[in-house]
Amino acid sequence: MRKLLAVAVIIVLHTTAYTQDRCAAIHEHGNNARTYKNPQSADAEHATRAVSPAQLQQTGSITHAGLRIVIPVVVHILYRTPQENISDDQVRSQLEALNADFNRENTDFGKVPPVFAARSAPTDIRFVLATVDPQGRPTSGIIRKQTTAQLWINDNRIKSNQSGGSDGWDSRGYLNIWVGKLSSSLLGYSSFPGAPAAHDGIVIRHDVFGTRGAVSPPWNKGRTLTHEVGHWLGLKHLWGDAPCGDDGVDDTPRQKTGNRGTPVFPRVNTGCDNGAEGDMFMNFMDFSDDASLLMFTKGQSAVMRAQFAAGGVRSALLLSKGAGEPWALAPENKVSVTGSVSAYPNPARSAITIRFDAAVSGTYVICDDAGRTLLRGTIKGTAVTIDVSSLRTGIHFVRMDDGRVQRFIRE
Ligand SMILES: [Zn+2]
Repeated sequence: MRKLLAVAVIIVLHTTAYTQDRCAAIHEHGNNARTYKNPQSADAEHATRAVSPAQLQQTGSITHAGLRIVIPVVVHILYRTPQENISDDQVRSQLEALNADFNRENTDFGKVPPVFAARSAPTDIRFVLATVDPQGRPTSGIIRKQTTAQLWINDNRIKSNQSGGSDGWDSRGYLNIWVGKLSSSLLGYSSFPGAPAAHDGIVIRHDVFGTRGAVSPPWNKGRTLTHEVGHWLGLKHLWGDAPCGDDGVDDTPRQKTGNRGTPVFPRVNTGCDNGAEGDMFMNFMDFSDDASLLMFTKGQSAVMRAQFAAGGVRSALLLSKGAGEPWALAPENKVSVTGSVSAYPNPARSAITIRFDAAVSGTYVICDDAGRTLLRGTIKGTAVTIDVSSLRTGIHFVRMDDGRVQRFIRE
């Protein structure tokens, strides 16, 4: 409560979208404020259908259980002042925190009460800065762009060159994150699965992004991004944005509304009968301070992974080449590597055929997503079939000695 008096009202806003691909809609809620606003609850309700229980049932059995999902990330830094041009190190600190949170590797996880820790789960979803841009060229995954904009609001203008922002990269292959100075009442906002491609991604304030650099308590553990990525993968707030509402996830308790500050377990009798355990205020999809947000549940993990199942909204990301090796060289080093390469079936279980549009003669290696070489061989002709049954499940790359790369999944 002291914090509530000490800090200004912070509003977190989220862009929501219909699965029918209509225009994005906004619902908003106070964060440190005790008031709750939902001016467009009807629109929010549509957005909450992005992942319905029926969809989960259809896709639940094919969520690539055991498959590590790796998502290439591109960070667009829009800055007017040097302070807003945050460092590469600050960006890296955010990716480290995000990966720890998503994989239950956060060092403060031990603070979760046992009753809730038993429901927690790592997602086995990881995020890496893109190494390849949409044209196949090497990239750091960080774009810096100076702007005259004093600050940004939740209107998606930061996502477009035309309005002084930065165009997103193909959202089928990348998670776009835009970092900039937001109005002081905004920490960040995210699209839900199914948003228009040009708006797909997350916008976040430069001074709540990461754990090092230009961040300060209570927003200095990178959890605004963890929360927003939860939305980006289909999660709702625990209370479903309605008093004692539901988020559609079985293992999260109902709770009256969002928590603030640093609650103490058990937080019960808040006006919504959720038993002796009370609110799961340490869940990333609550509103507590960064220091109090610690876990996702098994049910939430399943909702997020279901986005990647066959036909799922995010399934195309499994075939992204954004975290692989560049197949085109930077313009200054361009040499004549031409011709396309494809792989099928993809995902592959026992064997995969690599096909070229013109005959080749050379060698190849197969690497995993950590860059380790696992297999080698030679190619002569327009296709080669490779036994991949010895590979572990996950993302791999076939790299030809002419520099071409094809990504595939061993399932
Ligand atoms: Zn939220």
